[in-house]
Amino acid sequence: SAAQSKSLVVIGGGITGLSTAFYAKKMAQEQGMPLDITVVEKSGKFGGKINTLEREGFVFEKGPDSFLARKLAIIDLIRDLGLEDELTHTNPEAKKTYILLGGKLHPMPPGLVLGIPTAMGPFMKTGLLSFAGKMRAALDLVLPRRTDPSDESLGHFLERRLGRDVLEHIAEPLLAGIYAGNTFDLSVKATFPQFRSLEQKHRSLILGMMQSKKSGSEESKTLPEVARNSVFLSFKKGLQTLVAGLLKELQDIRLIGECGVSSVRREGNGYRVLYANGESQLADSVVIALPSYAIAEVLAHVPGIEMLRDMENVSVVNVVLAYNEKDLNTSFDGSGFVIPRKEGRFITACTWTSVKWLHTAPKGKVLLRCYVGRSGDDRWLHLSEEELVRAVRKDVAKIMGITAEPILHEITPLHKSMPQYPVGHLERVKRWRAQLAEAMPGVFTTGAAFHGVGLPDCVRQGKEAAADVLAELKR
Ligand code: FAD
Repeated sequence: SAAQSKSLVVIGGGITGLSTAFYAKKMAQEQGMPLDITVVEKSGKFGGKINTLEREGFVFEKGPDSFLARKLAIIDLIRDLGLEDELTHTNPEAKKTYILLGGKLHPMPPGLVLGIPTAMGPFMKTGLLSFAGKMRAALDLVLPRRTDPSDESLGHFLERRLGRDVLEHIAEPLLAGIYAGNTFDLSVKATFPQFRSLEQKHRSLILGMMQSKKSGSEESKTLPEVARNSVFLSFKKGLQTLVAGLLKELQDIRLIGECGVSSVRREGNGYRVLYANGESQLADSVVIALPSYAIAEVLAHVPGIEMLRDMENVSVVNVVLAYNEKDLNTSFDGSGFVIPRKEGRFITACTWTSVKWLHTAPKGKVLLRCYVGRSGDDRWLHLSEEELVRAVRKDVAKIMGITAEPILHEITPLHKSMPQYPVGHLERVKRWRAQLAEAMPGVFTTGAAFHGVGLPDCVRQGKEAAADVLAELKR
């Protein structure tokens, strides 16, 4: 009968899985559909890569540290959870960011949006590019648009529009840094789809970016106050606030921790979800919100699964160092720096966390977060913790002149944590999803392996998966 309860199992308790469960519950309620929801998480804690640690007055983010304010999916979720008042923005005094070039920190010229200049005056003055490099970038204003609609690499796209210097000195450390990837291996359509749309619409990337900056400031009027003047947002008590808010709303569903799923199989009109401990559960619908390699294990037998099995996930490690301010004679005018590959350093970027986010450190203390590891550079995997900290401190000393002893450090290895979207990724995802829908209708795969790695993208994908589930269960 219509009132008979349907069941959904969400596999993976990261931000994507929790968002899926939240929106499935909400949509089922709104549509008057009784839905029994279970979330199964392998580790002892929910939140996945979101991992806030409070220690000695510091708020350490061991995973993501913030999210893009202009992405509405996460703002809507925060509103749904009533957490707007918990939000915090970046320190308005710390707007400057730097790029290391020739061993020296150069401020990024004002007006760069995702590495694309939108103010030509400051761009022409920057020490990050040679005169020839600037002239080459300006060619973007007159170069024709590419007519071939197929995907290309981010590196190829940016080199084609703005030249090699902008790519290597500015865009690569900024953009590829987000993916810990190599620009020539990443799909432009899957990583920065707006670049290709801007070219299609405005021909010139620079002119297009200038236009979209204008309309973007119009759109931002619908954002909460705190989001209007800050590119990034976080929570006063760290990103864990978002996870706690979701878990509170999910109190009345079944949350199973410390329980890995080993496989999902068809059984009758539904699916049997098998747990690693030998137990199992039947479900009408299943959403799998895991990293690509973990989905590949759970659905090992499904045709087309090699797309996920073969996807690369780069391993990175975060090293957070805390200092007494009085031990340093460094001034931090900004929020940190990124490092181009060509510089050949051990760290790839450094955030001056306590300056950028005032809530993260007690008065008189300084918190630095150093990023290590990227596609093609996994030297860190072979080091002991001691060697790792030493290598990081060597760069910190060379680049910022900080030789003082840290009062504490926190090391967070994140194995296979950064999915790399190859050229053609979106087409492959489409093909995979069609194959899965054919083999196992009612089973969906989602999360950072598919349409965006940022937290807002994960929330959006969770919401979309919930809508897919409800549509399927109503058929
Ligand atoms: P995950 O968080 O990986 O969740 C998957 C969950 O599934 C995990 O909890 C895992 O334990 C569980 N699991 C695995 N296997 C099984 C199994 N077989 N059965 C059951 N459960 C299983 N994004 C931003 O927006 N801003 C940032 O500042 C930012 N910084 C980042 C920094 C780093 C170092 C990293 C690695 C990522 C960063 N990201 C950032 C990206 C963002 O954190 C992730 O893309 C996002 O958290 C992924 O969420 P998810 O739910 O899709 O996957």
